[in-house]
Amino acid sequence: MSKIFFFLVGCIVISCKENPSTKTSSHAPGEEQLEVLDTLEIISKPPKKIFKTFDNLADTTFVRLADFSDGFSYDLRYATSNNFLKEQVYDCAECYTRVKTAKVLIAANNTFKEKGFRIKFFDCYRPNSVQYKMWKIVPNPQYVANPKKGSIHNKGGAVDITLETLDGEELDMGTDFDFFGKRAYHDMTELPKEILDNRILLKETMEKHGFWSVRTEWWHYNYGKASNEKVANFKWPCNEE
Ligand SMILES: [Zn+2]
Repeated sequence: MSKIFFFLVGCIVISCKENPSTKTSSHAPGEEQLEVLDTLEIISKPPKKIFKTFDNLADTTFVRLADFSDGFSYDLRYATSNNFLKEQVYDCAECYTRVKTAKVLIAANNTFKEKGFRIKFFDCYRPNSVQYKMWKIVPNPQYVANPKKGSIHNKGGAVDITLETLDGEELDMGTDFDFFGKRAYHDMTELPKEILDNRILLKETMEKHGFWSVRTEWWHYNYGKASNEKVANFKWPCNEE
């Protein structure tokens, strides 16, 4: 049995060596040399992603953050039913902001990365039509901004975020995203030091980059220079890579 086994293995090794499909080197003079790459080689070396640049883009244009950086993490809750509405209100999970907001988010993320962390998004730009959808489910201004007036999310100038390590471990901020209660307030100081330190790291860094926070939501940040933009209803395409 073992002899047959070794014989078979030997055959496979020899046939692999003789198999010209991995690299073809024999070719007629003047003929273009064709190199067939090994399948494994292609799998182990994925092509490097080429990112878009902000060149020639107006500051108010809506852009998809993932096209400009792969340094962020995403858990876009409104594209799932894992949110306080208990309903999916986005067709697909995408994070868009205006160009000016995207630029400072990348800068802020670079500051976090120097300390071993990165931004994780729960929500970004939100089309006004989705604001109407949310208002229909929860018509209470304490939890959802009135769509007639719109929120800064509808203007492409607000993001809901937390921090995670570069290995993907979320930092403890004391509550989940969209926890409506005093424990989520910035002025709630009766919390373990680790949680307070995590919130301070997030808040101080975001403020350094021009964002401002709201008292009742540790995860929400408005970019000052985008908070007066018009409410928008641009809808992002789904099925992007
Ligand atoms: Zn928010």
